[in-house]
Amino acid sequence: MFKSVVFLCTLVTIKNVQSASMQTLAVRNALYQVPGLGNRPLIIKMYPGVENYQSDLYEVYAEPYTFDLRAASAVALIQGEGESAAKGEIVFFQRHPPNGPILVRGNLTDLPPGKHGLHIHQSGDLRQGCDKLGPHFNPYLLQHGGPSDPVRHVGDLGNIEVEEDGSVEFNIADPLLSLMGGPRGIVGRSIVISGNPDDLGRGGTAESLVNGDSGKPIACGVIAYIK
Ligand SMILES: [Zn+2]
Repeated sequence: MFKSVVFLCTLVTIKNVQSASMQTLAVRNALYQVPGLGNRPLIIKMYPGVENYQSDLYEVYAEPYTFDLRAASAVALIQGEGESAAKGEIVFFQRHPPNGPILVRGNLTDLPPGKHGLHIHQSGDLRQGCDKLGPHFNPYLLQHGGPSDPVRHVGDLGNIEVEEDGSVEFNIADPLLSLMGGPRGIVGRSIVISGNPDDLGRGGTAESLVNGDSGKPIACGVIAYIK
């Protein structure tokens, strides 16, 4: 189901934590019972390093968190860029922030049929339209990839497939995006539909490792909290 798996370790020492941190092949959630924390589980989220480029990264949380843990939701109203009449909305829902997966549900119309890249971009500043929203949201400074890849931008959501009539509905579960603040927070940023398909970093070109060769934006919207 979801790519990120939560597993429970019953026996935990500092040594256990260190050896667990050696697992660098995929992004993982790990839950530890740590002496001294009582019954408060420690969650360590692991991100893989990239040789000669980026070290392994770890986020550590002790529950309960000191901020609001209720489910959070946000919405992006999508509008076409330039002449495009594209419109619709994309809703984000996170039942267990800040670590739980996000459900992304979209319903769009008036798009060109076929595959189009879908990405969260760094900025939510629409003053110069969809084309000036910065690169794919990439807080861990990794290379572009597909949504199931261990090395990817946090903003990499892959492709959507638009029907012949220009409409598309989609449901995506993503393990990295968060609706809370912190390094993976996406509220206040933007979501962009690109003109071409995303090759998921497999195109063999320099551009492929930056944005999947997915071309210019054709529609976008700012991600904002739903009250
Ligand atoms: Zn990307």
